[in-house]
Amino acid sequence: MKPPTNSPADPYTPHSGDRRWSAVHYELRLGYRVATNRLDGTATITARAVEDLDRIVVDLHGLTVERVDVDGHRAKKVSTATHKTTVTPPGPIAAGTEFTVHVKYRGTPRPIRSPWGQVGWDELTDGVIVAAQPTGAPSWFPCNDRPDDKATYRFEITAEAAYDVLANGELLGTDRARAGTTWTYATTEPMATYLATVQIGRYRTTKLRSAVTPVTLHHPADLQAAAKTDFGRVPDMLALYADRFGPYPFGSYGVVVTDDELEIPLEAHGLAVFGRNHVDGEHGTDRLIAHELAHQWFGNSVTVARWRDIWLHEGFACYAEWLWSEHRGGDTADVLAERHRAGLLDQPQDLVVGDPGARDMFDDRVYKRGALALHAVRRTFGDRAFFAGLRTITERHRHASVAPADVLDAFAGSAGASVDAVRAVTAPWIDEPGVPELPAA
Ligand SMILES: [Zn+2]
Repeated sequence: MKPPTNSPADPYTPHSGDRRWSAVHYELRLGYRVATNRLDGTATITARAVEDLDRIVVDLHGLTVERVDVDGHRAKKVSTATHKTTVTPPGPIAAGTEFTVHVKYRGTPRPIRSPWGQVGWDELTDGVIVAAQPTGAPSWFPCNDRPDDKATYRFEITAEAAYDVLANGELLGTDRARAGTTWTYATTEPMATYLATVQIGRYRTTKLRSAVTPVTLHHPADLQAAAKTDFGRVPDMLALYADRFGPYPFGSYGVVVTDDELEIPLEAHGLAVFGRNHVDGEHGTDRLIAHELAHQWFGNSVTVARWRDIWLHEGFACYAEWLWSEHRGGDTADVLAERHRAGLLDQPQDLVVGDPGARDMFDDRVYKRGALALHAVRRTFGDRAFFAGLRTITERHRHASVAPADVLDAFAGSAGASVDAVRAVTAPWIDEPGVPELPAA
């Protein structure tokens, strides 16, 4: 008999996720009060057993579980530890079976301390931000917190009527009642847990015209003009990336500008979040706006299966910045690649981008070397093969998980080359720590 071990789902995040089951759909009903940071939630997870299960382990952090039902019957036993809630179902669940776990929980949600700073549900001065990458999702809902365990979501979130509530997916409706306003959202595309988000604030909305997908800005009232200017190029960016990367993968694009300042902007499934400090009305953060938008293709639709492959998000989004600059008549990707290559020569050459280690997963060299690997592919095989390869990746792995081998395979196909020939081009940037020369243009 196999021992009931739970080897880490991902060695970079050893406390997160469980490979013995997989989520299909999350239904989250959250009652929240901004004034007191009080959350009362129910989560109904539709799941599938990968192995025979006599226990179900879910990720949940810092919140109190009141009751758990499995397939409509009260769980035999529920025990909670710092990162995990372990549920003993009334009877064993056979491998391959679909089951539902219904969790009633409450508490005052807080971000989780991690090697990458505080992640998850966080209070703003007057509202809420959820920035969960990579392990913050359990700060607000019970889940199987693995980047490769994508599921669909429905959110019903009730908050005080003065606030706008945003979540991933399409807004299905709002319902005003005495207890507050309930906002219902649903995603039709499967989503990784860390990309699930809630944003609450006193926002005004501005809609932008775009031929690619509807774009809505949510911003504090006083930033209307500046936000409209700064994000006014998003429709052009969407058109550029739809051309280079393939169709926009979601039904809409939302941008939230919080009234607070934020250290860095962040991307979520169908949404991006910026701080008021990122808006100057003079396009001062064009590069970041392009970067976050590009994550909708590389990161949110096409998502890594393992965190060590994070360059497949960040290298691609960084390269998208260079494409935008080139498109606007600024520095070309060639110029930017040479400049960033020179910059890398001044930094320690001790990081292997293909396995940077958990702590250095968001090191700037992961971004730059990843982008340089892509530029090396473009220079070697030409624009046609390069962009066709990018479109193959987003089409083949749309709303799914991706590994470096899939990327090599896509470029090999579009270039009419062997996978080994493509690997020979990317390996010096991804698999080795030194700074190589770029191939001749
Ligand atoms: Zn990024």
